[in-house]
Amino acid sequence: MNSAEMIHLTEEYGAHNYHPLPVVVAKAQGIWIYDEEGKKYMDMLSAYSAVNQGHRHPRIIQALKDQADKVTLTSRAFHNNQLGPFYQKVAEMTHKHMVLPMNTGAEAVETAVKAVRRYAYDVKKVTPDKAEIIVCEGNFHGRTMAAVSMSSNEEYKRGFGPMLPGFKIIPYGDLDALRQAITPHTAAFIVEPIQGEAGIIMPKEGFLKAAYDICKENAVLFVADEIQTGFGRTGKLFACDWEHVIPDIYILGKALGGGVMPISAVAADRDILGVFEPGSHGSTFGGNPLACACSIAALDVIVDEHLAERSLELGTYFMEQLRDIKNPIIKEIRGKGLFVGMELTTEARPYCEALMNQGLLCKETHENVIRFAPPLIITKEELDLAVTSIRNVMEAP
Ligand code: PLP
Repeated sequence: MNSAEMIHLTEEYGAHNYHPLPVVVAKAQGIWIYDEEGKKYMDMLSAYSAVNQGHRHPRIIQALKDQADKVTLTSRAFHNNQLGPFYQKVAEMTHKHMVLPMNTGAEAVETAVKAVRRYAYDVKKVTPDKAEIIVCEGNFHGRTMAAVSMSSNEEYKRGFGPMLPGFKIIPYGDLDALRQAITPHTAAFIVEPIQGEAGIIMPKEGFLKAAYDICKENAVLFVADEIQTGFGRTGKLFACDWEHVIPDIYILGKALGGGVMPISAVAADRDILGVFEPGSHGSTFGGNPLACACSIAALDVIVDEHLAERSLELGTYFMEQLRDIKNPIIKEIRGKGLFVGMELTTEARPYCEALMNQGLLCKETHENVIRFAPPLIITKEELDLAVTSIRNVMEAP
C-alpha cells in the first residue's frame, strides 16, 4: 500500500480529530523519519517533545526488549520489580519524596487536580467542594474533561459541557491577576513554565519565581505542568530550573517514556501525595514494568548524553541562525533551548507543507506559529541542514 492509500484508509475509518501533514511515517531512527516510499525527513517536532532522546534510542529499545522478555504488565494488584527503581529515579531527579505513575499527560494532570483538591480539604481545611484551582489563559493541559474544563479555548470545549467547575482563568504571566484570584478556597496554581501548544509563549523573566513566592505566601500549591517543557527540552532538566523554582508538584509525561512507551507521573512530597490511600486513584497500566523499564533507560539517556546542555547550546545557535533569515512575514523567533517558535504574520500551515516537501517535518501551532523542537540528540551539522531548508522555504520568491 502506498502513502496515498494509507491516508485514504485513515480518513475513511478514523475519527477526524487531527489534521496531520500528508506524510505516512513507516520507520524512524534518531532524528530521521522515513515514509512508505522510503523518502527521508528530518524530525523537527519530536512527537511534541516526547522523543527528546531521538527515535528508537538503542539503550531504550534494549530496555524494552529485555523487559518484554520478562514481564510487561502486572496491574497494581501486585508489586513489580521495575516500579521501585523508576520511582527512585524520578524522585531523585525532581527532588521530591514520592511519585505517582499514570500513562498519558492528561491523566497526570487529572492526578494533580485530584491531589491538590484533596490536599485543600484534608490539610488546608477548605470548605468541602469549594476548592478552586487557578490556571492560565491559553493553557494546554490535555484533552480529558478536567483538562478541557481548565482551557480558555472555546473550540476545545464546544459541545462537551457541562464542564468541571472550580477553575479560575487568569492571563498568563500576570502576577497581579494571580494575587487577586487567590481566595481562602484556592488549592493550587497550575502553570506551564512555557506555553507550548499556545505557540511557545514565554512569560516575562522572573514570573515563575514571583508566582511561586505568591503561592507560598498564600498557602497555595504551585504546580508545574512540565509535560512538554521537561527533560531537557528548554535547555535545563526542567524549565522551572531557569528560575530556581522547585514546584510543589511536577506533572511529567512525554519524554519520560523516551518516545517508546506512554508513561506519565506526578512527583511531589509526602504531605501532598500522601493524600492518596488505596482505592482513591489508579490505573491498570499505570506503573507497568515495561513502561517503567523504558523510562529508567530514557531518563539515563537524558542525563548521560547531557541532553539539557546540548539543547541549551544548540538552541541558542539555532535561534541565531533563524533570526538571520530575511522575510518580513517572520514576526518573531522565540524560545528556550531547542523549544523554538517562529511566529508569522500569516498562516503557518502552507510553510509547514513546503518544509515537508524540503524533507523537514514540523507542525504549525495556533495558526501562525511554526514550532521547531527536534530531538535533543541532533548535531550542529544537522541543524545547519535544517536551517538551509527553512531558509529555502522562507526566502523563496
Ligand atoms: N500538558 C502539556 C503542557 C502538554 O503539552 C500536553 C500535550 O501536548 C499535555 C499536557 C497532554 O498530554 P497527553 O497528550 O499525553 O495527554
